[in-house]
Amino acid sequence: MDKKGTVYLVGSGPGGLSLMTKRAREVLDLADVILYDQLPGDEILASLPAHAEKVDVGKYGDHHTREQDEIEQLMVSYAEQGRSVVRLKGGDPFLFGRGGEELETLRAHNISVEVVPGVTSAIAVPASVGIPVTHRKFASQVTILTGNEDPTKEESAIDWDWLAKSRGTIVILMGVKNLGKIAKFLVDHGMDAATPVAVIERGLRPDQRETIGTLETIAERAQERKVRPPAVIVIGGVVLLYTGEHVIPR
Ligand code: SAH
Repeated sequence: MDKKGTVYLVGSGPGGLSLMTKRAREVLDLADVILYDQLPGDEILASLPAHAEKVDVGKYGDHHTREQDEIEQLMVSYAEQGRSVVRLKGGDPFLFGRGGEELETLRAHNISVEVVPGVTSAIAVPASVGIPVTHRKFASQVTILTGNEDPTKEESAIDWDWLAKSRGTIVILMGVKNLGKIAKFLVDHGMDAATPVAVIERGLRPDQRETIGTLETIAERAQERKVRPPAVIVIGGVVLLYTGEHVIPR
């Protein structure tokens, strides 16, 4: 008999309990150990079951390679003790959540894994203010990227030149720090400076806030309003559908 515990790579959704899946709730409530970071937000973190051992493994907005190795080692060692382990992540675990790397490590240790998908902020946060990432009139494609990378850097995992020439909606996660550089780069490489941009902070949380502008104005506006992560940035014609009204599931 295999005495190893299972590891669940769980997406919590973008914030509120109402957007967490039933399966996520189930595995959380049965977990022996929950490894979490702050991204799921207060409402979800406050709902973690009292009986589980809870380990805060997070800091977000940056790359923490060493911490990532440690997190993976922790998951492996808890599972090898026969415990049921949840790695809880904001949004969906496989969209910039490092879930893929964790899956590889767990497989290499012959630990059984279940991936519990989540509602991703990349789509749900724009939706909360009436912005669809695709729309027949505005965009038939959408590119989701990390804004962690500086577009002016020589070597980048992102094809910024292609992006500036691409059509459709651009959704940027982790992009607050580089917002100015990204907007300027896109304009310098051919995108219309009047392209509308929305920056949505703490989407689907009680203190959600939006900042609207264009590629030309957004960096200054965001600075004036002291925009902070976590925020989703949406670039493209679909932003014209923003009315200021919140369309939030309860
Ligand atoms: N796996 C997550 C993304 C992880 S990367 C998902 O699918 O949503 C972390 C980034 O996600 C943040 O820097 C921010 O850009 C975005 N993000 C996650 N939740 C958010 C929220 N509630 N409001 C705004 N941005 C959010």
